[in-house]
Amino acid sequence: MVSISTSRSWVEIDLDALSHNVNYLSSLLKPKTKFMAVVKADGYGHGLITIARHCQRIGITAYAVATIDEGIKLRKAGISGEILILGFTHPIRAFELYKYHLIQSIIDSKYACELSWCGFDIDVHVKIDSGMHRLGFDVNDIGSIEELYEYNNLHIKGYFTHLCVCDSNKRSDISFTKSQINSFNRLINKLKKYNDVGKIHIQSSYGLINYPEIDCDYARIGILMYGIKSSHSDYLKIKLDLSPVLSIKSRIATIHHLVKGTKIGYGLTYQVTKDSIVATIPIGYGDGIPRQLSSNGYVLVKGQKCPIIGRICMDQMLVDVSRVKNLTSNEVVTIVGKDGNNEIRIEQLALAADTISNEILCRIKKRLPRIYKGGN
Ligand SMILES: *Cc1c(COP(=O)(O)O)cnc(C)c1O
Repeated sequence: MVSISTSRSWVEIDLDALSHNVNYLSSLLKPKTKFMAVVKADGYGHGLITIARHCQRIGITAYAVATIDEGIKLRKAGISGEILILGFTHPIRAFELYKYHLIQSIIDSKYACELSWCGFDIDVHVKIDSGMHRLGFDVNDIGSIEELYEYNNLHIKGYFTHLCVCDSNKRSDISFTKSQINSFNRLINKLKKYNDVGKIHIQSSYGLINYPEIDCDYARIGILMYGIKSSHSDYLKIKLDLSPVLSIKSRIATIHHLVKGTKIGYGLTYQVTKDSIVATIPIGYGDGIPRQLSSNGYVLVKGQKCPIIGRICMDQMLVDVSRVKNLTSNEVVTIVGKDGNNEIRIEQLALAADTISNEILCRIKKRLPRIYKGGN
Protein backbone atom coordinates (compact mmCIF):
# COMPACT_ATOMS: atom_id res chain seq x y z
CA MET A 1 0.00 0.00 0.00
CA VAL A 2 1.39 3.37 -1.03
CA SER A 3 1.01 6.09 1.52
CA ILE A 4 2.25 9.63 1.87
CA SER A 5 3.98 8.72 5.11
CA THR A 6 6.51 6.42 3.43
CA SER A 7 6.85 7.65 -0.17
CA ARG A 8 10.08 9.28 -1.24
CA SER A 9 8.13 11.52 -3.63
CA TRP A 10 4.58 11.32 -4.90
CA VAL A 11 1.79 12.87 -6.93
CA GLU A 12 -1.40 13.97 -5.21
CA ILE A 13 -4.65 13.97 -7.17
CA ASP A 14 -7.49 16.01 -5.72
CA LEU A 15 -10.75 14.49 -6.93
CA ASP A 16 -12.79 17.30 -5.37
CA ALA A 17 -10.92 19.74 -7.61
CA LEU A 18 -11.78 17.49 -10.58
CA SER A 19 -15.48 17.56 -9.62
CA HIS A 20 -15.33 21.32 -9.29
CA ASN A 21 -13.73 21.75 -12.72
CA VAL A 22 -16.11 19.35 -14.47
CA ASN A 23 -19.13 21.04 -12.90
CA TYR A 24 -17.84 24.52 -13.68
CA LEU A 25 -16.98 23.71 -17.32
CA SER A 26 -20.31 21.89 -17.72
CA SER A 27 -22.04 25.10 -16.65
CA LEU A 28 -20.47 26.82 -19.68
CA LEU A 29 -21.88 24.28 -22.17
CA LYS A 30 -24.94 24.92 -24.28
CA PRO A 31 -27.96 22.99 -22.95
CA LYS A 32 -27.79 20.22 -25.56
CA THR A 33 -23.98 19.84 -25.47
CA LYS A 34 -22.60 16.86 -23.60
CA PHE A 35 -19.26 16.92 -21.76
CA MET A 36 -16.87 14.42 -23.32
CA ALA A 37 -14.01 13.85 -20.85
CA VAL A 38 -10.69 13.48 -22.65
CA VAL A 39 -8.66 10.99 -20.64
CA LYS A 40 -5.98 10.01 -23.16
CA ALA A 41 -2.32 9.61 -22.15
CA ASP A 42 -3.20 8.15 -18.75
CA GLY A 43 -5.66 10.93 -18.06
CA TYR A 44 -3.05 13.59 -18.86
CA GLY A 45 -0.78 11.87 -16.35
CA HIS A 46 -3.39 11.90 -13.58
CA GLY A 47 -4.28 8.19 -13.82
CA LEU A 48 -6.68 6.95 -16.51
CA ILE A 49 -8.88 4.67 -14.43
CA THR A 50 -9.30 6.80 -11.33
CA ILE A 51 -10.05 9.92 -13.33
CA ALA A 52 -12.58 8.14 -15.56
CA ARG A 53 -14.27 6.37 -12.66
CA HIS A 54 -14.61 9.62 -10.80
CA CYS A 55 -16.05 11.29 -13.89
CA GLN A 56 -18.54 8.43 -14.19
CA ARG A 57 -19.50 8.85 -10.54
CA ILE A 58 -20.30 12.53 -11.11
CA GLY A 59 -22.41 11.88 -14.18
CA ILE A 60 -20.10 11.98 -17.21
CA THR A 61 -21.19 9.50 -19.90
CA ALA A 62 -18.79 10.21 -22.78
CA TYR A 63 -15.02 9.74 -22.92
CA ALA A 64 -12.29 10.23 -25.47
CA VAL A 65 -9.01 8.31 -25.61
CA ALA A 66 -6.16 8.16 -28.10
CA THR A 67 -5.68 4.40 -28.36
CA ILE A 68 -7.72 1.21 -28.38
CA ASP A 69 -5.80 -0.07 -25.36
CA GLU A 70 -6.85 2.96 -23.34
CA GLY A 71 -10.43 2.26 -24.40
CA ILE A 72 -10.25 -1.41 -23.38
CA LYS A 73 -8.77 -0.45 -20.00
CA LEU A 74 -11.74 1.83 -19.41
CA ARG A 75 -14.22 -0.94 -20.26
CA LYS A 76 -12.42 -3.41 -18.00
CA ALA A 77 -12.57 -0.81 -15.22
CA GLY A 78 -16.34 -0.60 -15.55
CA ILE A 79 -16.74 2.56 -17.61
CA SER A 80 -20.06 2.11 -19.37
CA GLY A 81 -20.54 5.30 -21.39
CA GLU A 82 -19.52 6.11 -24.94
CA ILE A 83 -15.78 5.81 -25.57
CA LEU A 84 -14.39 7.47 -28.68
CA ILE A 85 -10.91 6.59 -29.95
CA LEU A 86 -9.58 9.83 -31.43
CA GLY A 87 -6.63 8.30 -33.27
CA PHE A 88 -5.51 5.42 -35.45
CA THR A 89 -6.32 1.82 -34.54
CA HIS A 90 -4.91 -0.97 -36.69
CA PRO A 91 -7.81 -2.62 -38.57
CA ILE A 92 -6.54 -6.00 -37.38
CA ARG A 93 -8.05 -5.06 -34.04
CA ALA A 94 -11.55 -4.59 -35.44
CA PHE A 95 -12.92 -7.46 -33.36
CA GLU A 96 -11.85 -5.72 -30.15
CA LEU A 97 -13.51 -2.47 -31.25
CA TYR A 98 -16.69 -4.48 -31.70
CA LYS A 99 -16.33 -6.56 -28.54
CA TYR A 100 -15.69 -3.58 -26.23
CA HIS A 101 -18.20 -1.25 -27.93
CA LEU A 102 -15.57 1.34 -28.72
CA ILE A 103 -16.26 4.10 -31.24
CA GLN A 104 -13.49 4.37 -33.82
CA SER A 105 -12.60 7.57 -35.65
CA ILE A 106 -12.52 7.11 -39.41
CA ILE A 107 -9.51 9.01 -40.65
CA ASP A 108 -9.58 8.48 -44.45
CA SER A 109 -11.14 6.38 -47.22
CA LYS A 110 -8.50 3.67 -47.28
CA TYR A 111 -8.86 3.23 -43.54
CA ALA A 112 -12.65 2.92 -43.78
CA CYS A 113 -12.28 0.27 -46.46
CA GLU A 114 -9.80 -1.79 -44.44
CA LEU A 115 -11.81 -1.56 -41.24
CA SER A 116 -15.02 -2.50 -42.99
CA TRP A 117 -13.34 -5.43 -44.73
CA CYS A 118 -12.75 -7.05 -41.30
CA GLY A 119 -16.48 -7.68 -41.18
CA PHE A 120 -17.40 -6.59 -37.66
CA ASP A 121 -20.17 -4.15 -36.80
CA ILE A 122 -18.37 -1.06 -35.60
CA ASP A 123 -19.64 2.33 -34.47
CA VAL A 124 -17.63 5.17 -35.95
CA HIS A 125 -17.27 8.93 -35.91
CA VAL A 126 -15.99 10.47 -39.11
CA LYS A 127 -13.05 12.81 -38.64
CA ILE A 128 -13.11 15.87 -40.87
CA ASP A 129 -10.00 17.86 -41.69
CA SER A 130 -11.09 21.49 -41.69
CA GLY A 131 -7.58 22.92 -41.84
CA MET A 132 -5.21 21.25 -39.37
CA HIS A 133 -4.12 18.60 -41.90
CA ARG A 134 -3.52 15.92 -39.29
CA LEU A 135 -6.34 13.37 -39.61
CA GLY A 136 -9.61 13.17 -41.48
CA PHE A 137 -11.42 13.66 -44.77
CA ASP A 138 -10.94 16.97 -46.53
CA VAL A 139 -13.89 19.13 -45.59
CA ASN A 140 -14.67 19.69 -49.28
CA ASP A 141 -14.46 16.04 -50.32
CA ILE A 142 -18.14 15.23 -49.85
CA GLY A 143 -17.92 12.50 -52.50
CA SER A 144 -15.53 10.35 -50.47
CA ILE A 145 -17.48 11.02 -47.30
CA GLU A 146 -20.81 9.92 -48.77
CA GLU A 147 -19.21 6.68 -49.97
CA LEU A 148 -18.81 5.74 -46.29
CA TYR A 149 -22.55 5.06 -46.13
CA GLU A 150 -22.03 2.10 -48.44
CA TYR A 151 -20.15 0.17 -45.78
CA ASN A 152 -22.99 -1.62 -44.03
CA ASN A 153 -20.96 -2.68 -41.02
CA LEU A 154 -19.53 0.78 -40.27
CA HIS A 155 -22.26 2.58 -38.33
CA ILE A 156 -21.77 6.33 -38.59
CA LYS A 157 -22.69 7.78 -35.20
CA GLY A 158 -21.07 11.17 -35.57
CA TYR A 159 -18.81 13.68 -37.26
CA PHE A 160 -16.11 15.85 -35.75
CA THR A 161 -13.31 18.22 -36.54
CA HIS A 162 -10.51 19.79 -34.51
CA LEU A 163 -9.54 23.44 -34.18
CA CYS A 164 -5.82 24.18 -34.22
CA VAL A 165 -5.53 27.89 -33.36
CA CYS A 166 -8.53 28.42 -31.06
CA ASP A 167 -6.16 29.36 -28.20
CA SER A 168 -5.09 32.57 -29.93
CA ASN A 169 -6.65 36.01 -30.25
CA LYS A 170 -4.60 37.01 -33.27
CA ARG A 171 -6.95 38.30 -35.90
CA SER A 172 -5.72 35.87 -38.56
CA ASP A 173 -6.13 32.94 -36.14
CA ILE A 174 -9.66 33.96 -35.25
CA SER A 175 -10.62 34.18 -38.91
CA PHE A 176 -8.94 30.81 -39.59
CA THR A 177 -10.92 29.22 -36.75
CA LYS A 178 -14.16 30.73 -38.01
CA SER A 179 -13.46 29.38 -41.48
CA GLN A 180 -12.85 25.92 -39.95
CA ILE A 181 -16.17 26.08 -38.10
CA ASN A 182 -18.08 27.38 -41.13
CA SER A 183 -16.70 24.88 -43.61
CA PHE A 184 -17.43 22.02 -41.21
CA ASN A 185 -20.98 23.23 -40.63
CA ARG A 186 -21.52 23.63 -44.37
CA LEU A 187 -20.42 20.05 -44.95
CA ILE A 188 -22.71 18.74 -42.20
CA ASN A 189 -25.70 20.63 -43.59
CA LYS A 190 -25.11 19.19 -47.05
CA LEU A 191 -24.70 15.66 -45.70
CA LYS A 192 -27.83 15.98 -43.56
CA LYS A 193 -30.04 16.30 -46.63
CA TYR A 194 -29.64 12.66 -47.54
CA ASN A 195 -27.93 10.99 -44.58
CA ASP A 196 -28.09 10.50 -40.84
CA VAL A 197 -25.01 12.34 -39.56
CA GLY A 198 -25.40 11.40 -35.89
CA LYS A 199 -23.64 13.54 -33.28
CA ILE A 200 -21.51 16.55 -34.15
CA HIS A 201 -18.54 17.94 -32.23
CA ILE A 202 -15.89 20.59 -32.75
CA GLN A 203 -14.65 22.10 -29.50
CA SER A 204 -11.78 21.09 -27.24
CA SER A 205 -11.08 23.07 -24.04
CA TYR A 206 -10.08 26.33 -25.69
CA GLY A 207 -12.75 25.97 -28.36
CA LEU A 208 -15.37 25.84 -25.61
CA ILE A 209 -14.07 28.97 -23.88
CA ASN A 210 -13.25 31.09 -26.92
CA TYR A 211 -16.04 29.95 -29.27
CA PRO A 212 -18.94 29.36 -26.83
CA GLU A 213 -21.46 30.09 -29.59
CA ILE A 214 -20.75 26.71 -31.21
CA ASP A 215 -23.81 24.57 -30.56
CA CYS A 216 -22.81 20.92 -30.89
CA ASP A 217 -23.68 17.56 -29.35
CA TYR A 218 -20.38 17.18 -27.49
CA ALA A 219 -17.42 19.25 -26.37
CA ARG A 220 -14.19 17.25 -25.95
CA ILE A 221 -12.64 18.65 -22.79
CA GLY A 222 -9.11 17.75 -21.75
CA ILE A 223 -6.57 20.12 -20.24
CA LEU A 224 -8.98 22.55 -18.56
CA MET A 225 -10.76 19.69 -16.81
CA TYR A 226 -7.47 19.11 -14.99
CA GLY A 227 -7.57 22.73 -13.84
CA ILE A 228 -4.67 24.15 -15.79
CA LYS A 229 -3.94 26.04 -18.97
CA SER A 230 -1.68 24.63 -21.67
CA SER A 231 0.45 27.73 -21.38
CA HIS A 232 0.51 30.91 -19.29
CA SER A 233 0.20 33.04 -22.38
CA ASP A 234 -2.88 31.32 -23.85
CA TYR A 235 -5.76 33.54 -24.73
CA LEU A 236 -9.00 32.90 -22.86
CA LYS A 237 -12.05 35.03 -23.46
CA ILE A 238 -13.27 34.81 -19.86
CA LYS A 239 -11.61 34.41 -16.49
CA LEU A 240 -11.99 30.79 -15.44
CA ASP A 241 -12.81 29.38 -12.04
CA LEU A 242 -10.68 26.21 -12.09
CA SER A 243 -8.50 24.40 -9.53
CA PRO A 244 -5.45 22.32 -10.44
CA VAL A 245 -6.10 18.64 -9.75
CA LEU A 246 -2.47 17.52 -9.56
CA SER A 247 0.32 18.34 -7.11
CA ILE A 248 3.84 16.94 -6.92
CA LYS A 249 5.37 16.44 -3.48
CA SER A 250 8.63 15.17 -2.10
CA ARG A 251 10.46 15.32 1.20
CA ILE A 252 13.85 16.43 2.43
CA ALA A 253 16.31 13.53 2.46
CA THR A 254 19.24 15.31 4.08
CA ILE A 255 20.51 18.80 4.92
CA HIS A 256 24.04 20.30 4.54
CA HIS A 257 25.53 23.49 5.96
CA LEU A 258 27.85 24.91 3.30
CA VAL A 259 30.29 27.79 3.64
CA LYS A 260 30.28 30.75 1.27
CA GLY A 261 31.96 29.94 -2.03
CA THR A 262 31.20 26.20 -2.06
CA LYS A 263 30.32 24.79 -5.47
CA ILE A 264 27.71 22.07 -5.75
CA GLY A 265 26.25 19.33 -7.94
CA TYR A 266 27.19 17.85 -11.32
CA GLY A 267 29.52 20.14 -13.22
CA LEU A 268 29.84 22.27 -10.06
CA THR A 269 27.70 24.77 -11.95
CA TYR A 270 26.39 26.60 -8.90
CA GLN A 271 28.34 28.37 -6.16
CA VAL A 272 26.71 29.50 -2.92
CA THR A 273 27.31 33.23 -2.45
CA LYS A 274 26.99 33.11 1.35
CA ASP A 275 26.98 30.52 4.12
CA SER A 276 23.96 28.41 3.14
CA ILE A 277 21.77 25.53 4.17
CA VAL A 278 21.18 23.17 1.26
CA ALA A 279 18.68 20.30 1.25
CA THR A 280 18.73 17.24 -0.99
CA ILE A 281 15.27 16.35 -2.36
CA PRO A 282 14.71 12.82 -3.72
CA ILE A 283 13.06 13.71 -7.01
CA GLY A 284 14.62 14.44 -10.41
CA TYR A 285 14.25 14.27 -14.16
CA GLY A 286 13.86 10.48 -13.87
CA ASP A 287 10.54 11.29 -12.21
CA GLY A 288 9.61 13.80 -14.91
CA ILE A 289 10.87 17.05 -13.39
CA PRO A 290 12.25 19.06 -16.33
CA ARG A 291 16.01 19.48 -16.14
CA GLN A 292 15.56 23.01 -17.44
CA LEU A 293 14.55 23.97 -13.88
CA SER A 294 18.22 23.59 -12.87
CA SER A 295 19.13 26.85 -11.04
CA ASN A 296 15.95 28.16 -12.65
CA GLY A 297 12.99 27.41 -10.43
CA TYR A 298 11.96 26.92 -6.86
CA VAL A 299 10.09 24.60 -4.55
CA LEU A 300 8.01 25.35 -1.45
CA VAL A 301 9.13 24.30 2.01
CA LYS A 302 6.96 25.30 4.97
CA GLY A 303 5.19 27.64 2.57
CA GLN A 304 8.39 29.47 1.58
CA LYS A 305 10.04 29.68 -1.83
CA CYS A 306 13.37 27.85 -1.92
CA PRO A 307 15.45 28.03 -5.12
CA ILE A 308 16.49 24.90 -6.99
CA ILE A 309 20.29 25.20 -7.23
CA GLY A 310 22.72 23.36 -9.46
CA ARG A 311 21.82 20.77 -12.05
CA ILE A 312 18.77 18.60 -11.48
CA CYS A 313 19.91 14.96 -11.32
CA MET A 314 18.03 11.87 -12.48
CA ASP A 315 16.72 11.06 -9.01
CA GLN A 316 17.52 14.07 -6.85
CA MET A 317 17.86 17.82 -6.75
CA LEU A 318 19.43 20.40 -4.44
CA VAL A 319 17.51 23.27 -2.93
CA ASP A 320 18.64 26.31 -0.94
CA VAL A 321 16.61 26.22 2.28
CA SER A 322 18.64 28.85 4.19
CA ARG A 323 15.56 31.00 4.77
CA VAL A 324 13.44 28.27 6.42
CA LYS A 325 13.67 28.04 10.20
CA ASN A 326 13.81 24.80 12.22
CA LEU A 327 14.07 22.47 9.28
CA THR A 328 14.78 18.76 9.59
CA SER A 329 14.85 15.89 7.12
CA ASN A 330 11.50 14.35 6.18
CA GLU A 331 9.87 17.78 5.86
CA VAL A 332 7.43 17.76 2.94
CA VAL A 333 8.48 19.73 -0.15
CA THR A 334 6.03 20.98 -2.79
CA ILE A 335 7.33 20.89 -6.35
CA VAL A 336 3.92 21.65 -7.85
CA GLY A 337 0.93 22.76 -5.81
CA LYS A 338 0.00 24.99 -2.89
CA ASP A 339 1.75 25.39 0.43
CA GLY A 340 0.63 28.20 2.73
CA ASN A 341 0.09 31.34 0.69
CA ASN A 342 2.32 30.25 -2.15
CA GLU A 343 1.56 28.11 -5.18
CA ILE A 344 3.69 26.63 -7.95
CA ARG A 345 1.76 25.83 -11.08
CA ILE A 346 2.43 23.35 -13.86
CA GLU A 347 2.29 26.33 -16.26
CA GLN A 348 5.44 27.73 -14.56
CA LEU A 349 7.33 24.47 -15.08
CA ALA A 350 6.19 24.46 -18.69
CA LEU A 351 7.41 28.01 -19.19
CA ALA A 352 10.82 27.21 -17.69
CA ALA A 353 11.06 24.07 -19.83
CA ASP A 354 9.96 25.93 -22.95
CA THR A 355 6.99 23.62 -23.53
CA ILE A 356 3.30 23.31 -22.64
CA SER A 357 1.68 22.00 -19.45
CA ASN A 358 0.30 19.02 -21.36
CA GLU A 359 3.79 17.73 -22.05
CA ILE A 360 4.97 18.25 -18.46
CA LEU A 361 1.95 16.23 -17.26
CA CYS A 362 2.64 13.41 -19.73
CA ARG A 363 6.27 13.27 -18.65
CA ILE A 364 5.49 12.58 -14.97
CA LYS A 365 6.73 9.07 -14.44
CA LYS A 366 4.86 6.07 -13.04
CA ARG A 367 7.48 5.67 -10.33
CA LEU A 368 5.85 8.56 -8.51
CA PRO A 369 2.89 6.91 -6.83
CA ARG A 370 -0.45 8.64 -7.39
CA ILE A 371 -2.23 9.38 -4.14
CA TYR A 372 -5.89 10.24 -4.51
CA LYS A 373 -7.84 12.38 -2.07
CA GLY A 374 -11.40 13.66 -1.89
CA GLY A 375 -14.09 12.42 -4.20
CA ASN A 376 -16.49 11.08 -1.60
C1 LIG B 1 -6.46 15.92 -27.09
C2 LIG B 1 -7.64 16.28 -27.90
C3 LIG B 1 -8.69 17.03 -27.31
C4 LIG B 1 -8.59 17.65 -25.94
O1 LIG B 1 -7.89 18.87 -26.05
P1 LIG B 1 -7.68 19.84 -24.82
O2 LIG B 1 -7.05 21.04 -25.41
O3 LIG B 1 -6.78 19.13 -23.87
O4 LIG B 1 -9.02 20.11 -24.24
C5 LIG B 1 -9.82 17.23 -28.08
N1 LIG B 1 -9.92 16.75 -29.33
C6 LIG B 1 -8.93 16.05 -29.92
C7 LIG B 1 -9.11 15.57 -31.31
C8 LIG B 1 -7.75 15.81 -29.24
O5 LIG B 1 -6.75 15.13 -29.83
